[in-house]
Amino acid sequence: MDSCLFCKIIKGEVPSTKVYENEDVFAFRDIEPHAPTHILIVPKKHIDNLAHASLDDQALLGKLSLAAKSIAQEQGILGAFKLTTNSGAFAGQVVMHLHFHLLGGWEKKEDVKSELHQ
Ligand code: 5GP
Ligand code: ZN
Repeated sequence: MDSCLFCKIIKGEVPSTKVYENEDVFAFRDIEPHAPTHILIVPKKHIDNLAHASLDDQALLGKLSLAAKSIAQEQGILGAFKLTTNSGAFAGQVVMHLHFHLLGGWEKKEDVKSELHQ
């Protein structure tokens, strides 16, 4: 997909802060983080969103989940993280290339720690 932002990021045509890459998966930091750690995990294959995935993508979807686990481990957030995806504009999807948001790192923030222990 020539005009797709995340395809361009995967190809290196648009700069990003890469945190992980394997044969099928690419991951980089979200430009507008919604958590202390906010990473986008995308398949190198262009799929618009989860609604466009098929049985052919079964292994790929498993690889994306396991990549999320590896990245969470590398980032030190394996104990507490969220993995979400928006599918469709009315669900908040802005970039039409399947991606998972890996969110975590709250426990490293002192203000959250003190809130938890109140
Ligand atoms: P969506 O709303 O489609 O689920 O999420 C798209 C995400 O992509 C948003 O969290 C947004 O901040 C992020 N994003 C949009 N443009 C760029 C960009 O050029 N670089 C990076 N690293 N993230 C981006
Ligand atoms: Zn794409």
